[in-house]
Amino acid sequence: MWGISSKSERRQRDKTPKKPKLKRITGTNIILWRYFTFFALGVIAVIALVCYGISGNALLTQTKRRVRTAGEDLIEAINDVNMPLSALERKVSDYGLLDGIDVFIFSLDGELIMPYIDVPPDKLKDLNDVMNANIGEWESDKKTEFNSREDQKAIFNYVACVRLLGRQPSYLLVRYPVSHIGESVRQIELYVLIIAICAFIIAFLISYTLANKLSGPIRDLSNTAQKLAEGDYSVQFNSLQYAEIAKLSDTLNYMKDEIKKSEDFRKELLANVTHDLKTPLTMIKAYASMIQEISGNDPEKRNRHCQVIIDEADRLTGLVNDILNTSKISAGLEQLNKKVFNLTELLYSVINKFSYLQERQGYSIMVDVEENLYTLADEEQIYQAVYNLVSNAVNYTGEDKTVYISLKYDAQEKRIKFAVRDTGKGIAEEELEHIWDRYYRSKDSHTRPVKGTGLGLNIVKIILEKHTFNFGVTTKEGEGSTFYVDFPKA
Ligand code: ADP
Repeated sequence: MWGISSKSERRQRDKTPKKPKLKRITGTNIILWRYFTFFALGVIAVIALVCYGISGNALLTQTKRRVRTAGEDLIEAINDVNMPLSALERKVSDYGLLDGIDVFIFSLDGELIMPYIDVPPDKLKDLNDVMNANIGEWESDKKTEFNSREDQKAIFNYVACVRLLGRQPSYLLVRYPVSHIGESVRQIELYVLIIAICAFIIAFLISYTLANKLSGPIRDLSNTAQKLAEGDYSVQFNSLQYAEIAKLSDTLNYMKDEIKKSEDFRKELLANVTHDLKTPLTMIKAYASMIQEISGNDPEKRNRHCQVIIDEADRLTGLVNDILNTSKISAGLEQLNKKVFNLTELLYSVINKFSYLQERQGYSIMVDVEENLYTLADEEQIYQAVYNLVSNAVNYTGEDKTVYISLKYDAQEKRIKFAVRDTGKGIAEEELEHIWDRYYRSKDSHTRPVKGTGLGLNIVKIILEKHTFNFGVTTKEGEGSTFYVDFPKA
């Protein structure tokens, strides 16, 4: 059949789901670095815009205020009857010389009164035109402000209707070029750009260092986890720089301990199972050979030997059942199938299972049970739990070979109380927390009618926790133990 694949095999292969395409995964440091850089860029851009806007506006407002103040100062001087003309003329030319503010005083028919300078007639006409267009007819105390353009330059103008020396109606024109503001703003732009580049480089370096610092511990964890995955359980996660990573480290350490425990459990189970399966099988084989060769014709001996075979086979069945049960129950394969059933009857049928011990080995089971108590639970699983508890009591009880079982309804607590007591050695304090663990077995547990697997109480725990029933054990060393379960009444 080499090289030929059957139809069903091919169908199977077709059904195998395709591996999903892996997304390209980026390192945390790159992501951090990227976000930080974008953030820095954003902040720089906002700051640059704000600087640019504020500085441009502030310069313009300041310039306009200066022109306005000059205008108001000049109006006062012009309207002053006592102001000598020469003094006024000096004031006008001072504004030009010292502040770069151009000041003109015109008569109503467009003649330049001050300053005493030669202005080309077409320039004079332009000035008059622009002024008249904006202020209109002369009216006492009238004033206005406007922008105009001259030779590609923006100029801010302030015009007012005045009375020269308190008498002659005239126009005052104060103007200042605002184009240089654009230049100042461009200067600021350049500074902002240089600062932004420096800030960006610094942000880049800081973000790179920071991102590496943050992702370093994660990389350490990942390396340690890799070693753990390769089976080195001696590793220790100890990235403690940041709270979250330290917590993750703790959790990983805890996980590692748990994995180690379960690995130990696995090894122990293998050892236990190998031992527990091997012993009964050897016994069965040995006794079967004995029957075949020696005791076949001696009914008494044959019966004794057959009984050993039956007991060992029972032990094997118990062991295999226990292992299967815990695996199934703890893997969640066994779903709860709750229904109302008679708990008293269930208990009797468990006790009946031990009748052979009562008959053959002198065990006594003292029963104090209320009739017809009904509960709501998964009958099969509860049977298993009760069976395990009774079986343990029988296994661990003392020399008197007596076990006490009670099942009573407690009206106050509204619970059916089940308890099984033995008169054995009890359980040592340090063992108490372990007895419910999987595969836990006390060291000296070999003088019992049925040998255990260390799975019984673990099965009980899983079942009762799934039902959320209250259960536990009270024990006194040297006097015995009482295992109890509280069932709801249905
Ligand atoms: P085993 O198969 O060994 O009985 P179990 O899970 O049923 O496994 O019990 C775990 C351990 O708990 C036992 O090995 C024993 O040490 C202890 N134990 C359980 N029941 C009793 C009891 N009634 N009296 C004393 N010790 C007990």
